[in-house]
Amino acid sequence: MPAQERKIQAPQPNPETQAFWKAAEEGKLMIGKCNACGAVHYYPRVICPFCFSDKTELQQASGNGMIYTYSVMRRAPIPYAIAYVTLNEGPTMMTNIVDCDFDALRVGQPVAVAFKDTENGPPVPMFTPT
Ligand SMILES: [Zn+2]
Repeated sequence: MPAQERKIQAPQPNPETQAFWKAAEEGKLMIGKCNACGAVHYYPRVICPFCFSDKTELQQASGNGMIYTYSVMRRAPIPYAIAYVTLNEGPTMMTNIVDCDFDALRVGQPVAVAFKDTENGPPVPMFTPT
């Protein structure tokens, strides 16, 4: 486990992402759901990336998923793990794996969302092994 916490840059919410970050402040991970084709996507978009419908809304994800692939940035001043996590709902998101022994990470490992505070901004969704 890193001795020092890495500083995380604050996201810049815009009108399209405001509801997503508001939910993040409440500890909720939101994904996009299309009411035209039924598919879910991440990151949430106003226009469905599958059928181009604008009948999309936010849906709360379970926050559980598994590591699809990862890479540990050991040369950074404070090492960190960047990863693609496939959510149980289906979409894959680029994120960081935190609060764990990087040497014990493996592909397919189950993880759960862990929101990390940023400097003067909403918390960002990262993941930790379960
Ligand atoms: Zn759609």
